[in-house]
Amino acid sequence: MSLLGKLFGAGDSKPAYPASAAARTLLLGGAGEDAERVRAARRGVVVADVRRGPGVTLLADLSRGFPFGDGAFEEVFSLEFIEHIPHPELPAMLRECARVLRPGGRWVSGCPDAEMLSAWFGLQCECVKKWKADPACPRCGGKARISPGRWLKSVCGNQEDYGDRRWADTHKNVLWFGRLKALLEEAGFSDVRRGDAGAYYEEGKADMKLLVEARR
Ligand SMILES: [Zn+2]
Repeated sequence: MSLLGKLFGAGDSKPAYPASAAARTLLLGGAGEDAERVRAARRGVVVADVRRGPGVTLLADLSRGFPFGDGAFEEVFSLEFIEHIPHPELPAMLRECARVLRPGGRWVSGCPDAEMLSAWFGLQCECVKKWKADPACPRCGGKARISPGRWLKSVCGNQEDYGDRRWADTHKNVLWFGRLKALLEEAGFSDVRRGDAGAYYEEGKADMKLLVEARR
């Protein structure tokens, strides 16, 4: 957890996001709880989502292109968003991200890490609560990393239906670093690297997340 998270996150295990010098940030899929935390760490945040939610300033289907000019943003940021974009539409969405970023602008995104979740398939146990196994568990002896329910949810999404089948809260994409790096480079990004998932996700959860940063 970041120092700011420790100072201001009392009673909340979720970290405060690292501050960004970005003058304008486009937050994709921000209808969830992220909007307020992103706003607290950044200036000039535009929150875009296909569904209404607290803090949403632009209601739009982002798979159909972004209603912004070229180079309009310093940063495009999203958590738990790109895995909801259908596989065939992700390359075009990433090209839109590149287009609305100024040269040198920053792309930051977190999503479930398929590589890690695959590695953890055999490390599931019902005793895992809050991402910690019970050391006295007769089945796993405390060695499990994840609960079966959480594993499935991380891979497949919440399976909630928002009233439009297309945008039900299921995952429509599977991502791991090598694949996302290739997609980003095809879309015009460079300097693609893993970021610190622990700066954006709570302890335990961060281990199963892929946090990727890239430059336009
Ligand atoms: Zn166990």
